[in-house]
Amino acid sequence: MRPLDMQPIGEELAVKWEDGSESFVALEKLRRACPCAACKGEADVMGNLYKGPDTVYTPKAFQLLRLVNVGSYAVQPVWGDGHVTGLYSFAYLRKVADTP
Ligand SMILES: [Zn+2]
Repeated sequence: MRPLDMQPIGEELAVKWEDGSESFVALEKLRRACPCAACKGEADVMGNLYKGPDTVYTPKAFQLLRLVNVGSYAVQPVWGDGHVTGLYSFAYLRKVADTP
C-alpha cells in the first residue's frame, strides 16, 4: 500500500492511500514512533537492546518541517528540532496510522 498524497494539516499528517482510504496521524505520535536507531535503540544478536539516553522531546520535535521521499518505499520527515534520521517505510507508516 502506498500513499498517493501526504499533507501536514495542523498537528496531524493526512495520508491518502492508493486504495482511497485516508489516515490522520498526530505528528507527536508519528515522532514518538520514530524507527531510527537513536530513538528505538539497536538490538544485538542476543536480543539485548542498546539505547542512548532517553530522547527529550521539545515542542519543536513535533513540528514537521517537510517530508522527503525516499525511493518509492519510504518517507523521511524533517522535524523542527533537526531530527532527520527516521526512515518510515510506507508499511510502517500505515502500521503507525492504524495503531490507536
Ligand atoms: Zn529517531
